[in-house]
Amino acid sequence: MIGIYLHIPFCKLRCGYCDFYATTSQTLVQPTVLAMLHEMERRKNYFSQVEKNSSALQKSTLYIGGGTPSQLPPDMLAALSQKAVATFCVAPPEEFTVELNPDDVTPEYLQRLRGMGVNRVSIGVQSFFDDDLQRLRRRHSARQAIRSVQLAQAAGFENISVDLIYGLPCMDVERWRSNLKTAFSLGVQHLSAYALTIEKRTPFGVLRRKNKLPLPHEDEVAMQYDLLCQASAENGWLHYEISSFARSGFFSMHNTAYWQQQPYIGIGAAAHSYNGWQRQSNVASCAQYIKNVEEGADFFELESLSMENRYNEYVFTGLRTVWGVSKSYLQANFDNRLINYFFSHARKHIENKSIIADDDRIAIPENRWFVADSIIVDLIWA
Ligand code: SF4
Repeated sequence: MIGIYLHIPFCKLRCGYCDFYATTSQTLVQPTVLAMLHEMERRKNYFSQVEKNSSALQKSTLYIGGGTPSQLPPDMLAALSQKAVATFCVAPPEEFTVELNPDDVTPEYLQRLRGMGVNRVSIGVQSFFDDDLQRLRRRHSARQAIRSVQLAQAAGFENISVDLIYGLPCMDVERWRSNLKTAFSLGVQHLSAYALTIEKRTPFGVLRRKNKLPLPHEDEVAMQYDLLCQASAENGWLHYEISSFARSGFFSMHNTAYWQQQPYIGIGAAAHSYNGWQRQSNVASCAQYIKNVEEGADFFELESLSMENRYNEYVFTGLRTVWGVSKSYLQANFDNRLINYFFSHARKHIENKSIIADDDRIAIPENRWFVADSIIVDLIWA
């Protein structure tokens, strides 16, 4: 399985909590898209260097994320996706996702997406309350969020994901319960639910420093997480990664491949690629990215991953999923020093049941996922 990620770093407005690289400059849209087409040409042999096993290349996922991909006219998305498939795929992608902002969604736009082979949409809802959305500086309303899901269903999409955020300013458990009730009643197949994190450089970071952000207490946020897990189970959904919930058969293939160390290429400014032993990070500036790609210069930083880096990455991502880490994978990929380190540090967590060890699988149980990072930090090679 290979993953292809196309990063569209454009947004109409900046949300108050967002720390991702994105720009509101519309003049850069067309040159960036041209540079992305050029980048794909320059990197057309990426997977042939990565995958010796040609059968692994038969399966692929394509994900267009951002930023706000739905800010791009459909013709540009079509040109990018066609180039990506022609360059990297030997068969149509098994899963082709596009992220949408609710107020960009129209029947015509959705039909164009269907026509270009998109079979999954991920809608950035965040909350079904207008005052939450205003505080977050989102540009859509709660009504538009619900309508966008209904339009996607009417357009024939049978794999729809929505994003929600809990732990929002002024959010109590009842408000979060209501958001979950609405989300589960919409007939979607997937939910990504994230705890709000406050990054220093964002408007929310500034407000917090000034004590002007009425965030719920961490116990309240933990209760919201518990409620999320409970609502997922009551609806018969599967909780397969800390922030990811799905009906059976609707796990995100693209993200699952990331978590399972499959190779992927990221195209566009600020996109990342991983080939199993190196990580490439494209420059996080559209202007610099365009210039370097078009001039034939380097446009990414290359980081060669040591065995310790790869071990840390495997443990960190694996233990945040239902699959955990596998003893046989550890034994096949890391030396005795790291394997012994893992088991000696895991012992106390196994004894107090914050880690479970089956035959081959070692995983954190769902009821400890909320504090997973504090467990994982013990297992990371420092
Ligand atoms: S739409 Fe997404 S990427 Fe753009 S500013 Fe908001 S959160 Fe950030």
